[in-house]
Amino acid sequence: MTAASTTPSILDRSRADLEAWCAAAGEPAYRAGQIATWLYRQGAGEFAAMRNLPAALREALAAAFAIDLPEVAHVARSHDGTRKLLLRLADGATVESVLIPDEARLTLCVSTQVGCAMGCGFCATATLGLHRHLRRGEIVGQFLVARALVAADLAGSPEGVAPARITNMVFMGMGEPLHNYDGTIGAIETLTADWGVDFSHRRITVSTVGLLPEMRRLLADTRVNLAVSLTAIDQDVRRRIMPVSRKYPVEDLLATCRALPLPRRKRITFEYVLLAGVNDAPTQAKALARALAGIRCKVNLIPFNPFPGAAFGRSDDLAVARFQDALRNAGVHATVRESRGPDIAAACGQLVAEGAARRTPARAAATLPAAAPHAGDGH
Ligand code: SAH
Repeated sequence: MTAASTTPSILDRSRADLEAWCAAAGEPAYRAGQIATWLYRQGAGEFAAMRNLPAALREALAAAFAIDLPEVAHVARSHDGTRKLLLRLADGATVESVLIPDEARLTLCVSTQVGCAMGCGFCATATLGLHRHLRRGEIVGQFLVARALVAADLAGSPEGVAPARITNMVFMGMGEPLHNYDGTIGAIETLTADWGVDFSHRRITVSTVGLLPEMRRLLADTRVNLAVSLTAIDQDVRRRIMPVSRKYPVEDLLATCRALPLPRRKRITFEYVLLAGVNDAPTQAKALARALAGIRCKVNLIPFNPFPGAAFGRSDDLAVARFQDALRNAGVHATVRESRGPDIAAACGQLVAEGAARRTPARAAATLPAAAPHAGDGH
C-alpha cells in the first residue's frame, strides 16, 4: 500500500503471469496458487504474512511487487445503510466504491476509471473528464478492501449486520467499464476465477453507455450480466445528452443488443435515467416499448439524482409511475431503481470522489428548472 507506484502491483497479474514469474524464480507452479490464495481468499496485505511460502520467496516477491490495495481515505454512511468509500490509489488518485445493503443482498458498486470520457450531460462523473483507466488490480482492490471493511464491521457488532458478505457486484461506479476493456475484463477474471476470489459471474453486472464492439467482446469473453444505459430512444435526444450516440446511434445500439448471443435465461437490463421534461413523457415510454420489442430485456428506471451544477431536473413521482405503467401496459418488464445514499452523494451519477468537502446542493437548486423539484430523493 505504501510502496512506490513504480513497483508493479501483484494484483494486476493473472494466474498465468504468477506461474511464469514463479518459473523464472525457480519455484514450482503451485506456488502461484498459494500466492493467489493469500491475496484473494485471505486478503493478505503483505508478503510477510504468507506463512506457507519459503522466506526467500517471500522476500523475492516483496522485492518484485507491491500489493497495491487502495487506501480507505473516508467512509460516508447514509441514513439508508449505504456506505460510500473514498479510496486513494497508489498514485494519489481517488475513486469511489459504494456498498448498498438491500434485504438479502449486499451489492458493491465499483469504479473502473478515474473520471470518465463519455461526457453524459446528466452525470456528475462526466464533469471530471477522464484522468486515467484503473488497472485490473485497482478494480479487484476495491472488492478486497470493501470485503475487509464488511468483515470488520461484523466483528464490531455482536448481533451482526445482515447480510454478512458482499453478494453482488456492479460495475456502475465512476467511469465507463468498456472504455477500459482490459482493466475490466482482467478484474472480472480475477474476481470470478477459482484461483482468485471465486465470485459468481451470475452476480456481476457490467453497465455500459453502449460501446458496441466491446459489448460483443464482453459477451464472448465472459458470462457476466450486461446493463446498457439507454436513457433515450430518440436519436436526437440521446445524441444531445449522451455524446456516445454520435458514434453509435440508437438504431445500431438496439440492433447490436438484438443480435447479442445472450445465454439462456439471461436478459439485458436497460437503464433509463428519467429527466424531467426531456425523456419522461408517456409517449416516449410507448416508443421505448416498441423499440425494445424482440429484445430479451428489462428496463430499470432511474429517477435523475441531482448534483451541483446539473442542468436537469428529477421527474416527479407521478411522472415516474406513469412512465413505468406505460411500459408495463406495453408488456415490458419495468422496475424503478430506488435512490440509495443520496444524502451522501452516493447515488447513481453522483460520484466525483471529492471526499467530504462538497455537501451543499445550493448551486444545484439555483440551476435546476423550477418545474423540477428534487425533493423525495428517498431519504
Ligand atoms: N458508464 C457506465 C457505468 C456507470 S453506471 C454507464 O453509464 O452505464 C451509472 C448509471 O447511473 C448509468 O446507468 C447512468 O445512466 C446512471 N446515471 C448517471 N448519472 C445519473 C444521475 N445524475 N441520476 C441518475 N442516474 C444517473
